[in-house]
Amino acid sequence: MKRNPRRAYDREGREIAPPTIGSLREQGETTAAVFCHARECGHSAVISTDRFPADMPFPDIALHLRCSGCGAREVVVMKDMAAYYARCTSGVGTAVGLPPSYRVIGRDLPWPDEAPRTA
Ligand SMILES: [Zn+2]
Repeated sequence: MKRNPRRAYDREGREIAPPTIGSLREQGETTAAVFCHARECGHSAVISTDRFPADMPFPDIALHLRCSGCGAREVVVMKDMAAYYARCTSGVGTAVGLPPSYRVIGRDLPWPDEAPRTA
């Protein structure tokens, strides 16, 4: 049986159900880290998951994206670890803040397919 590259499988080859965007939202996860796998591109970005439906499997966000650096569709979506660590450590002694360069597309920056918002 052909395997879906965006799914994990257990030892018997059964598909492990991925988390949905909605289930991650309930855990405070509203962003995703996106990496372009096209050769020699290496572009990465953090995106908001707000525009995607709650019942969509998280890894399938990649099907709806195109690299804003090179235009390739070979993108991989992963957990936004910077936001995750910042959230985990907020309110404790040595909180890990978000880096100054942290910008979320769809929140801090417009989606490339949307006209810049005029206030
Ligand atoms: Zn690219």
